[in-house]
Amino acid sequence: MAGILYLVATPIGNLEDISARALRILSEVDCVAAEDTRVSGGLLHHFGIKKPLVSYYEQNKHIRGPALLERLLQGESIALISDAGTPAISDPGADLTRAAIDAGIQVTPIPGPCAFVSALIASGLSTERFVFEGFLPRHHGERKRRLQSLAGEERTLIFYEAPHRLPETLADMAEVLGPQRKAVLARELTKLHEEYLRLTLAEAAELYRQQQPRGEYVLIVAGGESRRSPPPDLQALQDRLEKLLEQGMSRKQAAKTLAGQYGLPVKSVYELGLK
Ligand code: SAM
Repeated sequence: MAGILYLVATPIGNLEDISARALRILSEVDCVAAEDTRVSGGLLHHFGIKKPLVSYYEQNKHIRGPALLERLLQGESIALISDAGTPAISDPGADLTRAAIDAGIQVTPIPGPCAFVSALIASGLSTERFVFEGFLPRHHGERKRRLQSLAGEERTLIFYEAPHRLPETLADMAEVLGPQRKAVLARELTKLHEEYLRLTLAEAAELYRQQQPRGEYVLIVAGGESRRSPPPDLQALQDRLEKLLEQGMSRKQAAKTLAGQYGLPVKSVYELGLK
């Protein structure tokens, strides 16, 4: 009989957040697959768990994945954990999960801390409908294109971002999603310096123009205006369009950006630009 692949959530900072079930599963499995064996070794040591650790990360997943599947097929049970939080969310765990399912192996989640869920529920922004976008593309052009595709999204938007890329990402967000859009920067969740910065995108971009971001962040951005809302102030739209054109943006690009923000067809904004 094949073993079970357990996807075990671990704390995102505060070690008290580990569940009793997570501790039991980690003690019972044959081995633990972890992104960084030093980080996870520390966690297991803290809870007095002695288990063989196998590294499984982005750069070795193509070799390590099949080896782990082989062990599962031989009947071993494996717990997959990420550096922090829920595995398979913005980490290579998703690949191993898919491969295990394809190989007919049972996959069992052991739920627990997840950075984006914690950030969202305490953000004060709508939790009724939301989209998790994970990390934006690193390349500037691609990042802007992704944001443009999200400009008209009415659901709350959730992003992960590395601190050194945060200033640039916030500046792009303010430009593409609109400077007045509400955002919450959830920082160092469950840790000593946990903090929620509730700002507009313009304010957030300005803040990190002046100071360096420190620690880990989840960014929650309010959804765009409903497309069913009353027609926008045409003069304001025209002013913004002129500004973007003056800044050197092509008419097509400016129309796309504003159409998303105002919930209007790109063609109508483009035609306004021609006038
Ligand atoms: N799989 C994990 C999860 O969803 O819980 C997240 C893994 S992802 C590689 C790491 C990102 O999660 C960080 O760059 C940051 O955006 C976010 N994150 C993790 N821990 C955090 C914390 N304590 N406070 C704020 N953000 C955190």
